[in-house]
Amino acid sequence: MKAMVLNAISPMESQPLQRVDLPIPEPNARQMVVQIAACGVCHTELDEIEGRLLPKLPIILGHEIVGRVETLGSEVTRFTEGDRVGITWLNWACGKCAFCLAGNENLCENAKWTGKDVNGGYAQYTVIAEDFAYPIPERLTDAEAAPLLCAGVIGYRAVRLTGIHDGEPLGLYGFGASAHIVLQIAKYTFPHSPIYVFTRSQG
Ligand SMILES: [Zn+2]
Ligand SMILES: [Zn+2]
Repeated sequence: MKAMVLNAISPMESQPLQRVDLPIPEPNARQMVVQIAACGVCHTELDEIEGRLLPKLPIILGHEIVGRVETLGSEVTRFTEGDRVGITWLNWACGKCAFCLAGNENLCENAKWTGKDVNGGYAQYTVIAEDFAYPIPERLTDAEAAPLLCAGVIGYRAVRLTGIHDGEPLGLYGFGASAHIVLQIAKYTFPHSPIYVFTRSQG
């Protein structure tokens, strides 16, 4: 398969990703091979490339992945060949630490992150454990669904934690990749809520 690989921490201007040919990855019993249709680009990848967040090297970056299941590991039961799935930054969690047992897998002490600890989506194929793949509704295109898998889930989680009800005001700070999706979610879900997106001093 063709893949874009980061071999070394590099300045962005140095064209740090190199196109290479690699074998299609093999799934373990609980994993599936996914043929990738789209992968979003996240600011976190700039931090990985320039070393502010250190990935395992060499690495295939990319953690907003949409694709179709191509091959099933022998113990996979939740998906079948041809299903469309999404893959997020959280690639795997242990299921045993205090955070996992409390339902906070995003805080898992042993987590593996897509495109940082294991290869991600800037490639034709990847593998994912079935517990960390998410069905993607057919009404979304691949490109529409991809940004929901990092920027979207972060913003959605933040909105959910506010406990907001329709009609109550919502403020978005640090308007960026997440907030521009939250804005659409909020407009749809809370049509009577005033939404404040920037704060500026008078004059
Ligand atoms: Zn991201
Ligand atoms: Zn854990």
